[in-house]
Amino acid sequence: MSTTPKSLAELRDVYGPHLNLAPPGGWDADLEPDKLVKTHCCFCGQQCGIQLKVKDNRVVGFEPWTEFPFNEGKLCPKGVKRYLQGNHPDRLTSALVRTEHGFAEVDWEAAMAHTVNEIERIQTQYGKDAFAVLSGVSLTNEKSYLAGKFARLGLGTKNLDYNGRLCMVSAGVGNKKAFGVDRAANSWADIVGADVIWVTGANVAECAPITTDYIWRARDRGAKLIVVDPRITPLARTADLVLPLKPGSDCALTNGVLHLLHKWDLIDWDFVKAHTTGFEQALEEVKDCTPEWTSGLTGLPVAAIEKAARMWGEAETSFLLHARGIEHQSKGVENVLGCINMVLATGRIGKPNCGYATITGQGNGQGGREHGHKCDQLPGNRDIENPEHRKYICEVWNCTDEELPGKGLTAQEIMNAIHTGEIKGLLSLCFNPLVSLPDTEFTRAALSRLEFYVNLDFFLSETAQHADVVLPAALHEEDEGTTTSAEGRVIRINKAVEPPGDARADWKILVEIAQRLGKEKWFGHFTSPEAIFNELRVASKGGTADYFGITYEKIEKNLGVFWPCPELDHPGTPRLFEGGKFFHPDGKAKFIPTRWRPPMEVVDAEYPIWLTTGRVVFHYLSGTQTRRIGFLVEQCPHPYLEIHPRLAALHGIEEGDAVEITSRRGALVLPAKVVKSIRPDTVFIPYHWPGELSANRLTARHLDPLSKIPEYKVSSVRIAKTTKDRFPAELAELQRMAFEARTDQANLPEQVF
Ligand code: SF4
Repeated sequence: MSTTPKSLAELRDVYGPHLNLAPPGGWDADLEPDKLVKTHCCFCGQQCGIQLKVKDNRVVGFEPWTEFPFNEGKLCPKGVKRYLQGNHPDRLTSALVRTEHGFAEVDWEAAMAHTVNEIERIQTQYGKDAFAVLSGVSLTNEKSYLAGKFARLGLGTKNLDYNGRLCMVSAGVGNKKAFGVDRAANSWADIVGADVIWVTGANVAECAPITTDYIWRARDRGAKLIVVDPRITPLARTADLVLPLKPGSDCALTNGVLHLLHKWDLIDWDFVKAHTTGFEQALEEVKDCTPEWTSGLTGLPVAAIEKAARMWGEAETSFLLHARGIEHQSKGVENVLGCINMVLATGRIGKPNCGYATITGQGNGQGGREHGHKCDQLPGNRDIENPEHRKYICEVWNCTDEELPGKGLTAQEIMNAIHTGEIKGLLSLCFNPLVSLPDTEFTRAALSRLEFYVNLDFFLSETAQHADVVLPAALHEEDEGTTTSAEGRVIRINKAVEPPGDARADWKILVEIAQRLGKEKWFGHFTSPEAIFNELRVASKGGTADYFGITYEKIEKNLGVFWPCPELDHPGTPRLFEGGKFFHPDGKAKFIPTRWRPPMEVVDAEYPIWLTTGRVVFHYLSGTQTRRIGFLVEQCPHPYLEIHPRLAALHGIEEGDAVEITSRRGALVLPAKVVKSIRPDTVFIPYHWPGELSANRLTARHLDPLSKIPEYKVSSVRIAKTTKDRFPAELAELQRMAFEARTDQANLPEQVF
């Protein structure tokens, strides 16, 4: 059973989160490094270059890596403080097995033997597909590729999916439908030369901070900036035009803009006729989407909608960026396609200073969705249901079609199947669903129904607390490989230090389990990340995400290579679609009509306020790493309710008051943060925390029908002022930790005053 073996408070005492405040030995220690290791940030999809300072096999600090072209040495607070996750008191260095008295440290052999026995027992008793794998896209390309092969050939299960399903997957589906390929159309260099930049559903300054620099460089040249978001985010405060639309109305806005572009004849007809199909159908869909219709659904003034369409339509060059704000919806794919229709109608793609991209959120959000650890995908972004694609991968993997499972369940569907008892066993790595999936209490109930759960992680995450076996995995800086940044640039992750104790690289753990299950012939040759990468290159060859011409050496020499790169002498492809050549068999892009429809949950008399959730600059995803770093917790210790003064006044709420927020799934009590930068009918909660502080206690398991992404960005809630004694105990504990971080002398250099 996968309930926690001790109370959460007892687990927290032992496994944290505790804070690491200072480098090894404190600020006064001699931290002169033995070496500097050029690598990349372990957090977001920007994948900034960084140099890690290493002394005595410990990461003790960092230096900027100014030569790396994407960020030229710039980093956000997470990147600056990432080195504090090494040498951390919470670090798992031994395998853990659940006992009646809590987790017990056991030797590697015992943990592995138990794991393999349980996998075999469950699959013999219930069938291969009764054991599922959930992985993540902070993993390198090599581990992503291996996770797919491990699940399908190592375990023989079809039920494998990844936490990119909670992130960029709507963009992936939309891009493949429209362009025939799933990648940012451009490197970020084209942002700088754009005359108009349209940013929608992307809190760039907090979630992709270095992209701000590209936008500001364009602004320095005179570019205009349009920002669409229910919140006036930090970037929006610098915009020429802010469109604070109602949550869930994004597709109504893009349809309204397309209507006006056509009405005012701001269409690039030459491009549309030569390089696209489906424009007539797309126009038919928007023929009634007048500014008044758009205004009624979005809550935006007619004049603002017209101004946006005019600015976009009349620009010579432009770049459209979107992110989770439009993708995390039950119509995430339609929202993405609505943006793409605007871009295609004006023909501003595949040319210098003209382009389009989703800003991937997770570290390897781009590469992680190309190599086959999605339930419906094989390496090279091939389709698992396409007979030709299956045949090619069977040849590369030396297996038969019968040995290669078909399409399985997506991440939320796997959790649903665990809840119903259809899936009995789970292996997860790099995934903390108890914080990141919607409807937290449903996820907790599902985990408690597993017969066996093995978790690979470097800290005991909230989900790992439910495991039967925890295998200590490696930190980013303890392994090597490649990732692919938001731009589509494949880069090298270099190893800086060895993992401590019994901890080891995730790929070694998966290979060992596969070998113990008797699958030596498919995994025995994986003796290094480069060996895995070389098979990945061949497996991707001929697919849309073609890495065949990329080698470790070439990446190092060029400071990254953009895929597709089909041959060893190919330079890579920073800008896609040049000359109007798209990836569909006819070489054209497709307009896909997008009919507006409401979110799955709308406001009503009982739940009259929109809720939207998201990230803050100081934390990363489910917070497993950043909630353990002193400076980051000091800056943002706990979640809060962002609320407009008018809505706050209606409920008698003032700054810092306790507010109970209730949805159809559950309730939270959080302190109010009263701001003018949010719509008065909407509240916002950052989602990085677990348990009683988890924003996902409120969100619903509604999915986009195509991408199966949950609708994190649109829920309905009611709010009520309550008393501060109802704040969860965790909140006070986090405030105490933040206070300690602020006042602990170890956090300051010697005698600065
Ligand atoms: S979190 Fe993202 S923006 Fe910040 S340093 Fe890391 S890669 Fe760069």
